[in-house]
Amino acid sequence: MRIAEIFHSIQGEGQFTDMPSVFVRTSGCNLRCWFCDTPYTSWEPEGPQMPWQVVLDKTLSFDCKHVVVTGGEPFLPRDIVPLTKALAEQHRFVTIETAGTVHRPVHADLMSISPKLGNSTPDAARGGRWRSRHESLRQNLPVVARLIAEFPYQLKFVVDQPDDVAEVEAYLHLLPAVEAKNVWLMPQATTRDQLATQTTWLEPTARRLGFQFSSRKHIELFDNVRGK
Ligand code: SF4
Repeated sequence: MRIAEIFHSIQGEGQFTDMPSVFVRTSGCNLRCWFCDTPYTSWEPEGPQMPWQVVLDKTLSFDCKHVVVTGGEPFLPRDIVPLTKALAEQHRFVTIETAGTVHRPVHADLMSISPKLGNSTPDAARGGRWRSRHESLRQNLPVVARLIAEFPYQLKFVVDQPDDVAEVEAYLHLLPAVEAKNVWLMPQATTRDQLATQTTWLEPTARRLGFQFSSRKHIELFDNVRGK
């Protein structure tokens, strides 16, 4: 599997915000969100190929119970299956962060799914051939429905504009099994200033609708510096 980085930090988003965690970041993605905050795993993927056993050893070298397998899209490499099962055998708590477009028979203690809204599609100038591919792949309801049936889950939506909230509500109507308490609205932001501006209106909106609000702690603390 191609690995962009393995590092120790704190979880910045969702229900385990502030939890010390080891991040295993796979490289490669089937989508091309214009706002991708890890372009070194999508637009310009980096990192060496590694046997999953080497990834496991590097991950276990951190004395840390929580492991976040993220990307890129971590469901693309087949080796996510033996890797997550081996992590569970070593009593690690495994969160998988995915856009929910691919399914594999993994182990996960939390499936953190971030379905991509229309606001994610790159424009023609940036996206080129990726624009239509992204648009056709970015949502896969059968996969998301299967993931939320099989695993403890949270759904995280990256919200850029107030109109995006109506799109979230329309999407959730198609997944009646989803509980509002498991839905997190999160600002689209790559800098502290953007995050602060977006939070002023999105946090009360999320509360009013019965959803959760998630900041992006790693941006608050590190301003989106890679590897932190
Ligand atoms: S799905 Fe995630 S990793 Fe892939 S392009 Fe979008 S934000 Fe980046």
